[in-house]
Amino acid sequence: MIDAQLRALALATKGFMPADEGDALHAAALRAGEEHPGLPWIEVGSYCGRSTVWLGAAAREAGTTLFAVDHHRGSEENQAGWEHHDPDVVDPDTGRMDTLPFFRRTVDEAGLDDVVVAVVGPSPTVARHWTTPLAFVFIDGGHGEDPARLDYEGWAPHVAPGGTLAIHDVFPDPADGGRPPYEQIYRPALDSGRFVETSATGSLRVLRRTVDRHVVPGTSTPRSAGPPPSR
Ligand code: SAH
Ligand code: MG
Repeated sequence: MIDAQLRALALATKGFMPADEGDALHAAALRAGEEHPGLPWIEVGSYCGRSTVWLGAAAREAGTTLFAVDHHRGSEENQAGWEHHDPDVVDPDTGRMDTLPFFRRTVDEAGLDDVVVAVVGPSPTVARHWTTPLAFVFIDGGHGEDPARLDYEGWAPHVAPGGTLAIHDVFPDPADGGRPPYEQIYRPALDSGRFVETSATGSLRVLRRTVDRHVVPGTSTPRSAGPPPSR
């Protein structure tokens, strides 16, 4: 369990992570850290750092680094006129959303600035140039169809075999919420045969990447990936 003071700080931070899901996220990350010591973690979509506190606290315990990817300009659903808009995070000089100052303050207050590294920019661009295998990937970025699909395509391949992919705002029943995290991330991950579900808490789904074996299309026999055949 996360330290009580840090948990209180997370709960006092603007954002969208419910307490029980944050606790589950923390537990899943710790487990991933034990299984893959030394490999870093990624959070996609930090906003003001609420979920980052749970993950950063776990990263400190695991002795690893959490890279927190966000352009800090808000998702579509955070913009003025949309359901999840907060006028306090609009920069009055530019009229644009900017959650980076809030994020930085949260991480500083949590004493996690040596464990959490902000990566400020579009997630697909960061993913395209990323090469290090990851023990833990948490996707909670843009919830439109394209952003969700690009996050899946960009980050799922970087989850180390046996590593963890956690997805937020997964709603199998459309009556409960928007579909893209379910349709563009959760389903494709499971349907690929490369991930299995290990836990569900609220709208948080935790998947584990199977050990790297290719399932040959049209068969049910997994085949060892192995090195490419020599020429
Ligand atoms: N995890 C946060 C909530 C994240 S809200 C919490 O616990 O409260 C979604 C965040 O994703 C926003 O801050 C938004 O700026 C970011 N985001 C959306 N699309 C993005 C993209 N393509 N690249 C980088 N960040 C993105
Ligand atoms: Mg969310």
